[in-house]
Amino acid sequence: MSRYIATRAMRGANALVTEAELMLSRALKEKGADTPVSFPNTAYYLPTILGMTGKTIEKLGDLQPIIKYARDLLHPIPAFSKWTPYLGETLDSGMATLLAAETIEAVRFAYGLQPEPMPGFKLSGGTSFTSPENEGENLDGHLNGPIDDIQLRSWGIQLVDGRMPGFAAIVGCAKSNAVAVKIVRELQRRNILTFLCGNVNGRSIIHQLQEEGVELGYNTFTVPFGTDTISAIYALGFATRSALTFGGLKPGMSREILLYNKERVFAFVLALGEVDDLKYAAAAGAINFGFPVIADTVIPEILPTGVTTYEHVVSMPFNAIEGKDDLERAEQLVQKCIEVRGVKVKVSNVDVPVPYGSAFEGEVVRKTDLRVEFGGKHSRAFEFLQMAKLDEVTDGKIDVVGSDFSSIPPQGSMDMGIIIKVAGRQMQQDFEPVLERQVHYFVNGASGIQHVGQRDIAWIRISNAAADKGFSLESFGKILHARFHEDFGAIVDKVQVTIITEPTLHAEWLEKARVAYDFRNKRLADLTDNKVDEFYSCTLCQSFAPNHVCVVSPERLGLCGAYNWLDCKASFSINPTGPNQPIKLGKQLDDRKGYWQGTNDYANIGSHGVVQEVSMYSIMENPMTACGCFECIVMLIPEANGVMVVSREDTSMTPAGMTFSTLAGVAGGGMQTPGVMGVGKFYLISPKFISADGGFKRVVWMSSVLKQTMQDEFKAVCEREGDPDLLDRIADERNVTTVEDLLAWLEAHNHPAMAMEPMF
Ligand code: SF4
Ligand code: ZN
Repeated sequence: MSRYIATRAMRGANALVTEAELMLSRALKEKGADTPVSFPNTAYYLPTILGMTGKTIEKLGDLQPIIKYARDLLHPIPAFSKWTPYLGETLDSGMATLLAAETIEAVRFAYGLQPEPMPGFKLSGGTSFTSPENEGENLDGHLNGPIDDIQLRSWGIQLVDGRMPGFAAIVGCAKSNAVAVKIVRELQRRNILTFLCGNVNGRSIIHQLQEEGVELGYNTFTVPFGTDTISAIYALGFATRSALTFGGLKPGMSREILLYNKERVFAFVLALGEVDDLKYAAAAGAINFGFPVIADTVIPEILPTGVTTYEHVVSMPFNAIEGKDDLERAEQLVQKCIEVRGVKVKVSNVDVPVPYGSAFEGEVVRKTDLRVEFGGKHSRAFEFLQMAKLDEVTDGKIDVVGSDFSSIPPQGSMDMGIIIKVAGRQMQQDFEPVLERQVHYFVNGASGIQHVGQRDIAWIRISNAAADKGFSLESFGKILHARFHEDFGAIVDKVQVTIITEPTLHAEWLEKARVAYDFRNKRLADLTDNKVDEFYSCTLCQSFAPNHVCVVSPERLGLCGAYNWLDCKASFSINPTGPNQPIKLGKQLDDRKGYWQGTNDYANIGSHGVVQEVSMYSIMENPMTACGCFECIVMLIPEANGVMVVSREDTSMTPAGMTFSTLAGVAGGGMQTPGVMGVGKFYLISPKFISADGGFKRVVWMSSVLKQTMQDEFKAVCEREGDPDLLDRIADERNVTTVEDLLAWLEAHNHPAMAMEPMF
């Protein structure tokens, strides 16, 4: 450990703790000790403080012992005459820095100073832009600030399945705007989540990217925290919550949380530009989590001593990096970061003229940036994947039938059909819809292309930037050919793509596709639990929630919503030793509650003995466990003799007196909790939805976002249940937020649950 780094980190920590003390005492004087403090939309209070100390901070006054503890962690700056191993002291200083930084941000929140205002700043994120009717955008002139629990959970599945290999916290300012863009693009290309913060002499990488028109926000995996170093604390709050949310660790288990991050979260810090005392101190904080720091300036290095997997701090002076120009140097720098942290990345080799990677999946093409669209309000686009015999498919052949979009005026639209033929010895007809659904993700991976919907309601946009770079209709075919081979190579040997814009052929194929969609719908409706003799396990989430198993049946999909029975079946074909294994049902022990010898045996093995029995159809008896990425939480409301269903997107208060975020802490962690379950939203419409407890009629309260987005599906369920108006009898957060109000509502609306037999 270099004395130089230790000295500067200790000095930085000292200064920051002092600053936090001053800010806090001023706030206590001005606002009072009882003033509430919190970060928005999280159940984890101030997450780093919660994780490291176990203290739940709710008021300004609660911060006093924290900052005292931070002060106690500080050490005197090492004397020049003395030689000691400084690692312990440096790490302590780092921890003090984190506690002080989070304290400062919390006080700023109390003053309304976070998220940091930035006039004219446009954040790309949220779920507002998902249909042709809704072109809303978030232009509120603020940076993002801390990541909320909703986003953390929805990224969860990508973190566990490896699509998102890790995260980078960039602190400072790049050599030039072009270098800033290149670094971020290189990270996006590898699907690495990127947090942006800090500045050098007032100029931040956030400014640089904003000037270059780079879309920042949740949608593009690049989250602007703040333009100072202190906001880097949000990255460590994110890391801490990963351990609490997915790892089943409890607040205060600081050692375990730090180890969890070291072993499972592939993150690193990239310091751009001059490193000041505060940055050294923050770096020391990150090293506690096992996250190495790579700097693009000259700093005396410290040697590996085992806190991080490889080196702690690596200096890679930008101008000394080999490369023919700055852009190549930027690429090398990112490469080095990945090596130092040992991040496992998978880059798709897709031959298109725009950047490509999952980080671009959520990217939005706004009307003003639009070159041409297919589908949406003014035209029809569809996509149709079919299996064919091996000799009927020419691998790699891409045909465009009809005119391209060169004659379409700017922002215009045209009809298009994407026909994909696949052949393979392991291919089955049942896999057609599984593969077809991938078109959405594959096409969306191209920067400047937006894909929404599926089947004959697909809606695809090409931006001006992408069109200018040469993105053409043929590019869709190239993407699909490459990605189907890459991701489904085990079942797909040949892929051929035809893009149709010619009107007669378009109509003809649309008709054929619709016949196939209908056929598939019927097949899916017929596919019930009692028609198969095996279910599938999913243990994908065990990399984060070690004892959780999803048991996936035709009528109950995985709680993340991403894996249904067919997906699991396909996945098993692709990877026979992977996370989806067939569970032979064997003897049925109870058909009402859904017990089989096979599912019980598997639950026992898969959960490493934590779960003995699992009921497929009951929330009250041995309900299925949950990791952390459930789409909804179903929870018993005893007074109402029914259950409420809370959506991950709902941030409001529920009749249980808890928000989704708080409830999630009860539901997750791989434990069986009777009366509480995390589920995928499509399980709600299954005939097997808590069928042992009375089924859908038990739902007394449901987040309005679910009612709205799944209206048609729920209407059909209400018909099925013999109560067509049932949906209107179910309360939501717009009218009911307490148990008392709920009971009054149920009474007034004559909800069936009131007359059903007691739930327990
Ligand atoms: Fe995780 Fe279950 Fe989804 Fe599999 S199905 S990814 S275990 S939540
Ligand atoms: Zn999960």
